[in-house]
Amino acid sequence: MLKPKKSLGQNFLIDQIVLNRILEAVNPKKEDKFFEIGSGKGALTKKLILKVESIESVEIDKDLIPGLKKLKLISPEFKVHEDSILNLELNKLSQGKFKFRVIGNLPYNLSSRIMLWSFKNSANILDLHYMFQKEFGKRLVSSPGNKSYGRLTVLTQYLFDSIDLFEVHPDSFNPKPTVESIFIKFKPKLERDFHSKEALKLQELTQLMFSKRRKMISTSCKSLISPNDFTNLGINPKDRPESLSIKDFIKITKYLLNKKNG
Ligand code: SAM
Repeated sequence: MLKPKKSLGQNFLIDQIVLNRILEAVNPKKEDKFFEIGSGKGALTKKLILKVESIESVEIDKDLIPGLKKLKLISPEFKVHEDSILNLELNKLSQGKFKFRVIGNLPYNLSSRIMLWSFKNSANILDLHYMFQKEFGKRLVSSPGNKSYGRLTVLTQYLFDSIDLFEVHPDSFNPKPTVESIFIKFKPKLERDFHSKEALKLQELTQLMFSKRRKMISTSCKSLISPNDFTNLGINPKDRPESLSIKDFIKITKYLLNKKNG
């Protein structure tokens, strides 16, 4: 028996009820192209393979690869990449021909980096279903005014629509994580692109504001925008960044881009 590797965030899903609930929420169709992050011992992979024709996955742990390769007996089309998700680019895998449905019971220590990877790859993604540590997942779907509302929240909600589907108890995993988990669906907003000028400016702006989140936005952004201009945009210059809506962030971003061009 292989010992689960804590450093790789290995908490394997063992609860059939939860696995079936995931499947029901994801609702895989035969013609879907799935991409799974961190297949582990294949708990989810096995379920998906029976439903869809095309599934690729990535698993970093060499010890788990032989077990996953056996799944080719069920579906010869199944392909597992022995790599880190952070090294893969979906457009290279699909050659720009289709979009993936991405799914993963994520290694929790990589959640932020996998979100960033998802932002970068969003043009090749139809939807995403991720299991996170609950506290982290809640940050992504947080609303203005909450302590957990931060830079990652703004970027996530700028790029994706999201629904938090359900919470999962530690007992559903082996080994049991010390934290509760949450399963969330994201759908990329078609009009948004992480590499656009607007998104790049938004990244700069959120970096500036949230690195000094206790300061009023007129103070943290003093070099960029005057208090009067905030007021003209209908935004209180005395606000802290966590009280701004995504729409406010977009308004300020557009203003900064126009100002530069004007
Ligand atoms: N999908 C399986 C399940 O639900 O039982 C395993 C989930 S486990 C929480 C996370 C998996 O991600 C582990 O198998 C781990 O080895 C793998 N992993 C960790 N870091 C990774 C990385 N950088 N790239 C790809 N897989 C990774």
